[in-house]
Amino acid sequence: MTDALRTAQKLYEGKAKIIYATNDPETLITYFKDDATAFNAQKKGQIANKGVINCKVTTHLYGLLEKQGLATHLIETTSDREMRVKRVDIVPLEVVVRNIAAGSLCKQTGIALGTTLEPSLVEFYYKNDDLGDPLLTSDRIDAMNLATPERLIELTEKAQTVNRILSEFFASCGITLVDFKLEFGTDRDGVLLLADEISPDTCRLWDATESDERKRVMDKDRFRQDLGDVAEGYQAVLERILSQLSA
Ligand code: C5P
Repeated sequence: MTDALRTAQKLYEGKAKIIYATNDPETLITYFKDDATAFNAQKKGQIANKGVINCKVTTHLYGLLEKQGLATHLIETTSDREMRVKRVDIVPLEVVVRNIAAGSLCKQTGIALGTTLEPSLVEFYYKNDDLGDPLLTSDRIDAMNLATPERLIELTEKAQTVNRILSEFFASCGITLVDFKLEFGTDRDGVLLLADEISPDTCRLWDATESDERKRVMDKDRFRQDLGDVAEGYQAVLERILSQLSA
């Protein structure tokens, strides 16, 4: 933790990150922790160095997206675990994109693990731990006043753009982007920015060169499913990203 953070006011502590205030009301600091939770915090643990890896992975992936014109809340990565970010009002929706069936989709629908989804699915979940982040429909989002129909279209299009850019990039790293979760927020001018993080905590990433169902997993499913070598999976994702970016 940097000296600046030691005296900063903690605004919010989440499962994987802490948000601090700064002297500038429009700027916050995000601190990435090693704590890991799954199944709505019923399973808890630590993944060695996860905060450092996720901070770096998010920084590089946001950089790629920014280069292609997609605005994010990141201002600057200031240390191994810290980012200066723009203050946003978080849209209370988790936007999940699925290219290949896995996780809750398989559990809820019976679609077989590994089935290619063509076109990809874009789904919205209500960001509410007490309710267990339920899957929403556009009518429910409307009824709950969580987003206007225009905003839903904007969220869908931005999520599809992120998917196009990241699927292609991960493929060049020898990694299959199976699915991922995004969060968005609006800045004080009402502009929609990508927020939170994009990391092995929030994506399913499979080693494209590995066919074994357990060995191919490089993401938080190693923790969720007790597959072992969790930190190694995260580290391998970072190393592949770094070597691809320097190629
Ligand atoms: O659990 P489920 O299959 O719905 O997750 C889909 C994707 O969204 C996975 O990559 C998972 O890591 C991510 N996710 C997340 N945070 C949540 C729920 C899902 O990052 N609260």
